[in-house]
Amino acid sequence: MFRKILRRFLTNLGEMEGDYRVFYLKDDIAYSTLYISIAILGVLSMIGMDALLVKGRSDLFAWLMLYRAGFVLMSILVLAALRKTSKVRVHDRIILGWLSITVLFFLLYNFTRPTNSLTSIIDVLIPLAIYIFSPLKIIFNIALAFGFSTGTLYVDYVYKTGIDPVTLHAATIAQFVVHALGLVSGLQIQSYRRKAFKAYVEERDAKEMVAYLANIDPLTKSLTRRHFFNIAESEFLRFLRYRRQLSILILDADHFKDINDTYGHYAGDLVLRNVSLVTLEQKRAQDTFGRLGGEEFGLLLPETNLAQAKIVAARIQNAWEQTPCIVDGKLIHSTVSIGVAEAGPDDRSFEDVLQRADRMMYKAKEAGRNRIMPE
Ligand code: GH3
Ligand code: MG
Ligand code: MG
Repeated sequence: MFRKILRRFLTNLGEMEGDYRVFYLKDDIAYSTLYISIAILGVLSMIGMDALLVKGRSDLFAWLMLYRAGFVLMSILVLAALRKTSKVRVHDRIILGWLSITVLFFLLYNFTRPTNSLTSIIDVLIPLAIYIFSPLKIIFNIALAFGFSTGTLYVDYVYKTGIDPVTLHAATIAQFVVHALGLVSGLQIQSYRRKAFKAYVEERDAKEMVAYLANIDPLTKSLTRRHFFNIAESEFLRFLRYRRQLSILILDADHFKDINDTYGHYAGDLVLRNVSLVTLEQKRAQDTFGRLGGEEFGLLLPETNLAQAKIVAARIQNAWEQTPCIVDGKLIHSTVSIGVAEAGPDDRSFEDVLQRADRMMYKAKEAGRNRIMPE
């Protein structure tokens, strides 16, 4: 039931829950480092109070020093372990361990010191700090803070006698109040963090979707003309600067008008998608395939010379011819004419290579279609 109530306040991130913690891991480690350092300074600063508390008892003072040194050493080791952490689970285990030991450390210390309004303030700060700073699940924070509060009240009520009843009453009320305040603050902080993460993910996804829509042709799933040219131009610059090999194929579907006239425009669309997917399957990861317009495509082949480009073209021509499109139970065959060109020392821009490949494609058409025409 309690978990249900918590869930009402905390945005449900569903499958993103794991990503959410990973997203904040660096921040969490930085903050954990900060509050563990502050705790170390706090514990060291209490040495002055020890000296006053056990005035004249140097043996007891030495024990308290040893006790504090133990905590400081343990915390320094935790800081060193945190620096090397790259997993949320490891981070959480370290913090849970450190917080449990810290809670115990302060509880045990309560046996040695008097209960008054000053020490009650320290007792209130600890659960509050857990609620506000601990990035662990709220349930863990409640358990830790509650453990500390019940422990400290147990020490006050059962172990110590002769405490001023007003102080005891005030300490009890303060503990209740701090849990209410701490829980609300902790919930608010975690809820803001979750909402901020959700907004970040939604914005990132929206940007990716916009980029996808601008870059991918919806019918053929190949790149849009604009995106194809962007990539082609940067590949051409690489060719110019490093003299890497670069070839291009221009592919134009043969007699596509006839396909539309015979089977209808919708069937024509399906054929176009089919041949595009066939070509996408044939290309290597580093090749760029885009729709230049209508039933005409470009395939950019980096690190590829003319002879190698011819082999790629033959493979695509064959796959295109061998993979008819099935529409309403009918097999629609289509073929392609491919012009091939390789970027050379006289080319000043990508357009130069493209134009040559285009001319070769028209020559393939003139020569009877369904063929490859290299320069
Ligand atoms: P060729 O062998 O000389 O290339 O003949 P072709 O009929 O393919 O060439 P043409 O340029 O005369 O006609 C291209 C046809 O492609 C005309 C146009 O209707 C069709 N087409 C262009 N884009 C699309 C499209 O997105 N869907 C469909 N179904 N048809 C398209
Ligand atoms: Mg055509
Ligand atoms: Mg055409």
